[in-house]
Amino acid sequence: MAVVNVVPVPLRTVIKTGSFTLPEGSIMPYVTKKIDKNILGEETYILEVTGQGVTVGASTDCGLFRGWQTIKQLVNTAEGGELPCMKIEDRPRFAFRGFMIDSARHMQTLDELKTMIDAAALFKFNVFHWHLSDDQGFRMEIEKYPRLMEVGSVRASSDFGNRHVNEPYGGYYTKEDMREVVRYCAQRYIDVIPEMDMPGHTTAMLASYPALSCSGEELPLRTTGGIFPEILCAGKDETFAFIEGVLDEVMEVFPSRYIHIGGDEAPKTNWRKCPACQARMVEEGLRDEEELQGYFANRVQDYLRAHGRTAVCWNESLKSGMLENDMIAQMWMDKEGLSADWANSGGKVIVSDFFHYYTDYPYAMTSLSKTYSYEPVVKGIEPAAEENVLGVSACIWTEYVETLEKMAYMTFPRFAAVAETGWSYAALKDRPDFLQRMRALVPLLKKMGVTPAPVAEWNPHPAKKAKNMVAFFTENINGDMVRAFIRSKKEV
Ligand SMILES: [Zn+2]
Repeated sequence: MAVVNVVPVPLRTVIKTGSFTLPEGSIMPYVTKKIDKNILGEETYILEVTGQGVTVGASTDCGLFRGWQTIKQLVNTAEGGELPCMKIEDRPRFAFRGFMIDSARHMQTLDELKTMIDAAALFKFNVFHWHLSDDQGFRMEIEKYPRLMEVGSVRASSDFGNRHVNEPYGGYYTKEDMREVVRYCAQRYIDVIPEMDMPGHTTAMLASYPALSCSGEELPLRTTGGIFPEILCAGKDETFAFIEGVLDEVMEVFPSRYIHIGGDEAPKTNWRKCPACQARMVEEGLRDEEELQGYFANRVQDYLRAHGRTAVCWNESLKSGMLENDMIAQMWMDKEGLSADWANSGGKVIVSDFFHYYTDYPYAMTSLSKTYSYEPVVKGIEPAAEENVLGVSACIWTEYVETLEKMAYMTFPRFAAVAETGWSYAALKDRPDFLQRMRALVPLLKKMGVTPAPVAEWNPHPAKKAKNMVAFFTENINGDMVRAFIRSKKEV
């Protein structure tokens, strides 16, 4: 039986005799924090519970903060008000442990984001990947391009799957809002990586500035989910001037080393027909449109690098075979095994496997155990290249997630499972033990405003699974969408 209900499971826990009786009020007067430069590693901490209280030591404030999360979990799950005396030595397996929230399809209030950030901090996540631009909405204040807010932040209706809300939906985060999120995360030693998806998933940008597409035709924001053929034109110089203008303001607000530039699901139909794109290919000696996307990503990376930043992109960008190798690839769906080739040749990878780490799908499809058991090694990677896997990232896309309640239900406890894989060494992972520790933490999560999925739904029984899957797809996805998806996949 787990007496130490901590998620992610710490590296080393030694239970000693005796216990500390928890006080009626705050434990704070009984906690001693000390900076100890002999403790190696920014996030490493050593924690001791004695009869007198709790001591936590680390070489940095970040390490102390990670240790404090462990104390919070211990105190909130202690049975009978007694904390066993113990010594914990702990440090993370991976340096990158992210969670992604999509604010483009549906937005969250700052308070809702803070609630999610607090819950993520409790499980020692250290990166918030913030998806701010997509076909259905542009959510970031950019002073240089006001139409991104005036036009790009509002869609006429919402038609995700079989749900139709026939009224405008919109909003965006001001620079002050986003700075507040950055500050809030910094206090929790979490970096914020903003994502401006490009060249695909850019309908909101193109609705605002139609001249940036190949055809230059006016088009409305998308109100349905899917993959759409209108993408940024890679032939026009004004496209790059626009991107640089946007990125200038992104970098002004977000201090993170990494900036996500998307690069997923970009159909090449229009690039094939576009004189400007074709001329660019000739001029740059590019063999096909995949290489044109490679050129696109490299050009944006050059700009970011010149400003001391690094681009992160989804794995589709690897198809060009010519990405500059200081970019970071985020693997979500990689049938060709390009992420392994990338890592084997020295490129860095973040693992966000669709089948295990996309929490917008029902537990019937991606059960908690499935998420938990996944080992984030890129298939085909050579042992020497394993160090190129920077870490893991869990995702929540929000086509069907309109409220914090729904987000909490979908993400927890699956986010916590990804957190344990990211923080705890593989040999320490134990599924039944994790489930027990996780159950003990449910009341704390609820207290923090995050109500996880009920325990009975974490790992649905096979019979129930089929029923839940049918219900999910009937409710969310209709025939038109499936056909549009298949068509777009062919085009990609
Ligand atoms: Zn073009």
